[in-house]
Amino acid sequence: MEIFNKVADVKEYVKAKKAQGKSIGLVPTMGALHEGHLSLMKGARRECDVVIASIFVNPTQFGPGEDYDEYPRILERDADLAEGVGVDAIFAPSADEMYPHGYSTYVTVEGITEKLCGKARPGHFRGVTTVVSKLFNIVRPDKAYFGQKDAQQFAVIKRMVEDLNMDIEVVPMPIIREADGVAKSSRNSYLNPQERNAAPILHRALMLADEMIEAGQRDAAKIIEAMEELIKGEPLASIDYVSIVDGDTLEDLHALKGKVLVALAVKIGPARLIDNIIRELE
Ligand code: AMP
Repeated sequence: MEIFNKVADVKEYVKAKKAQGKSIGLVPTMGALHEGHLSLMKGARRECDVVIASIFVNPTQFGPGEDYDEYPRILERDADLAEGVGVDAIFAPSADEMYPHGYSTYVTVEGITEKLCGKARPGHFRGVTTVVSKLFNIVRPDKAYFGQKDAQQFAVIKRMVEDLNMDIEVVPMPIIREADGVAKSSRNSYLNPQERNAAPILHRALMLADEMIEAGQRDAAKIIEAMEELIKGEPLASIDYVSIVDGDTLEDLHALKGKVLVALAVKIGPARLIDNIIRELE
């Protein structure tokens, strides 16, 4: 497996692979890899000739006071894990390599970036769409793989690709969970044992929503109320949002219909955890 730190080097690698007619799959990550990331890489491995994973803790998507400095950086271990699932090359640039002196260009998707996580994290999605655009330009993938765990991120990137006529297929991949339902996340490492015990409350709230939907409930307010009540019973959890929205437009739904995204963000100790389920309804 190759490891590139320079834009010019990975571009040269891609150019040579494309000249051989090979398809390229890209898996953008911030590293501290876990089974969630690895499932994306395995998906790319199945569908593409060449798999490139990027590992970059992107400063522009962190707000002031967020965890940019604390975010785990363990490249050597990540490289072993990526190699183990058949990744061909890792692109792990420095912040200066991606944003050299004088860097001035940002990509902004309006509207859907202002809802859900965008409310608590202004500027976050501008950082995401900027770095993903740069990665797309550098790697020129045929397909790029994103986890459904970050459902809003997926919707925003899909919107960007469509709006900017990017010739890239964005592929959603299912959420990988721990045995107790907690979605795997690099940020779970911030939790102490008591906080980790409290973390399944997100999944339990989503399962409650699922049961209510299965039983025929279509009133979003009733489902949100029941979820919030359940979460409030967990003293270590504090709700950022519990929302039921259309899975593509992220517009609030009052009556559940079509592609329904039930999403929540909950603070537990130092970690802000997110999770969601998507259901297709008549
Ligand atoms: P991150 O390194 O957290 O920026 O995540 C990189 C990619 O992995 C994103 O597309 C995430 O949605 C995806 N991802 C993170 N956690 C999971 C998970 N538990 N299951 C599936 N995909 C995930």
